[in-house]
Amino acid sequence: MDFAGTKSLFHLPSGVIYLDGNSLGPLPKTTMAKLEHVTRHEWGETLITAWNGAGWMSQPSRLGDRIGRLIGAKPGSVVVGDTLSIKVYQALAAAIDLQPDRNVILSEPENFPSDLYMAQGLIGSLDRGLTLKCVTPDKIPNALEQNVAALLLTEVNYRTGRLHNMQELTQMARENGVLTVWDLAHSAGAIPVDVARAGVDFAVGCTYKYLNAGPGAPAFIYVAPKLHDHIRPALSGWLGHQAPFAFDPDYHPGPGIERMRVGTPPVLQMAALEAALDIWDTVDMQDIRARSIVLSELFIEHVERQCPQVNLVSPRDPNQRGSQVSFAVDDAYPVVQALIARGVIGDFRAPDLMRFGFAPLFIDEQDVENAATILADILSSKSWDRPEFKKRAFVT
Ligand SMILES: *Cc1c(COP(=O)(O)O)cnc(C)c1O
Repeated sequence: MDFAGTKSLFHLPSGVIYLDGNSLGPLPKTTMAKLEHVTRHEWGETLITAWNGAGWMSQPSRLGDRIGRLIGAKPGSVVVGDTLSIKVYQALAAAIDLQPDRNVILSEPENFPSDLYMAQGLIGSLDRGLTLKCVTPDKIPNALEQNVAALLLTEVNYRTGRLHNMQELTQMARENGVLTVWDLAHSAGAIPVDVARAGVDFAVGCTYKYLNAGPGAPAFIYVAPKLHDHIRPALSGWLGHQAPFAFDPDYHPGPGIERMRVGTPPVLQMAALEAALDIWDTVDMQDIRARSIVLSELFIEHVERQCPQVNLVSPRDPNQRGSQVSFAVDDAYPVVQALIARGVIGDFRAPDLMRFGFAPLFIDEQDVENAATILADILSSKSWDRPEFKKRAFVT
């Protein structure tokens, strides 16, 4: 792949090295024209007729199929909508509903908190004697016991980048009668994923991180085709009904993955997602992965050589990592703020982590070397030690 070419597809503010595409991807240059077209011509000129005329209503499954290519899902098994937290809830609710004789949701304490909160909320509302059991990754295989209904894991850990072996854990879960719910928030667009080959039951993920669909862009959900006809949607909204415009007072789930739709799709956000997917349609995920390893290895090498103050907390073996690298450092919060002030955008994760994402579509070797040099300068000069860098903002 021509990565110099893909970099030019993004609007990157001058003087900025953007190592936070794992949290909010940058703006593709075509997105604004796409949004302008959808607002001005479709919404502006054709008003409500655009639901049919401009294909707005079928957009969630069309875009779902395009995301499907990136995660190894067959056409007709991914749909887009809502936020990732909602999609976690939906997938988990569907999984445990299929397992009436099992009462444990298995996860890990370091899973993304919203995923755990959603499990806790679901357990509370079901009042079915379910419990959430969290064990460290090494203990997961032995914890896949008779009473476990679902295994809820995020493939790439949001703090450390540690990568689970999705294929192996999914197989172990299946052998033990446990359904799997994989969160691909830091996988989709970052590493090759093959949900069909791994035999994953449910997968969810977001589009505003590596996929670059913009703040608030909708999430996606995958359900293995063999389960489509058996799942009962917990969030039984009208657009997941088999005939939304029959306005039937009783819910009857729609065909296939359509039943995981809930309500009115976010058309403007989907337009931004569509523009982003025009780039992704041309991407080879094996090439992305190889390049992301080159860049993150280079970053680790430069940082460790120049910054004795930091400790790598991501796995050292690139095959055990996603596309992000985290270092622990004292005073991580002001250090990250000082970096941002110098144009190197990463982020801080409590209590002491600096986190950097490597998205090969728009990051190159020069960016990596420059970022490491600026970090070294900030640490050795202690230029982070200023009151303005210590004021905590809400979003870190
Ligand atoms: C980013 C992220 C989320 C965010 O969920 P939203 O509902 O989109 O805010 C959830 N889970 C994981 C693992 C994430 O990385």
